[in-house]
Amino acid sequence: MRWFDTHCHLDRLPAGSDLAATMTRAKRAGVERLIVPGVAGSPKRVAELTAYAGVELAWGVHPDFADTPWQSPGFQPVAIGECGLDRRAQHSIEDQERAFAWQLELAAKYNLPAIIHLVGHYQRAFDLLAAMPKRPRLVMHSWSGSPEMALRFVDAGAYVSVSGGHLRRPEKLARLLAALPLSSLLLETDAPDMAPPFWSGDSNEPSALPLIGAAVAEIAGMPVEKFAEILYNNSVGLFGESRQ
Ligand SMILES: [Zn+2]
Repeated sequence: MRWFDTHCHLDRLPAGSDLAATMTRAKRAGVERLIVPGVAGSPKRVAELTAYAGVELAWGVHPDFADTPWQSPGFQPVAIGECGLDRRAQHSIEDQERAFAWQLELAAKYNLPAIIHLVGHYQRAFDLLAAMPKRPRLVMHSWSGSPEMALRFVDAGAYVSVSGGHLRRPEKLARLLAALPLSSLLLETDAPDMAPPFWSGDSNEPSALPLIGAAVAEIAGMPVEKFAEILYNNSVGLFGESRQ
């Protein structure tokens, strides 16, 4: 089986983490491709990250960093994000929305997927997207809203990404999986955050993805091999063939 971690912060592993060992464990577990989102612009340690086969970088500004001055990425991003709205962020909703809208326009202009971080403000984000003359392809990363709202985004062309955090509320995840077409689903670890409940490692990392995938497949009532292949292909459909 092969797996695609559509969202992992390899540049933000805890201090003292061994990136090479983390990548070896990921490869051994069958995690073939990994997207590192931007949080405050470009990921940190760009050259170090792209030295690993399968690692691809996005560029973006998380709502927590909505006032970060823009900087040129210095690399070809595979996506824009993570960008969005977060009711817990310190910045005003107006500042967040400005940064979000600007990044959505950038994604549309360069024909790149936008990786979206939404905590609350679901309708506001939906309205903002609906008002765009040209919408980029979208990933709703580690979706935290209702299944009904997720389906509205999917109907507008979005993918919905499931993380290990969802396994902490299996009934809610079951409702989400029941509401969405398989063709709209992606998987992510969101490492080093969002560890699945059974994870005993020091911090969450991409090698947890197959375990997360197996647990999600079970809740979806599907053989894990089939589930893995479909979600891998969904990810390639969105992010394209590997550039490496
Ligand atoms: Zn993230």
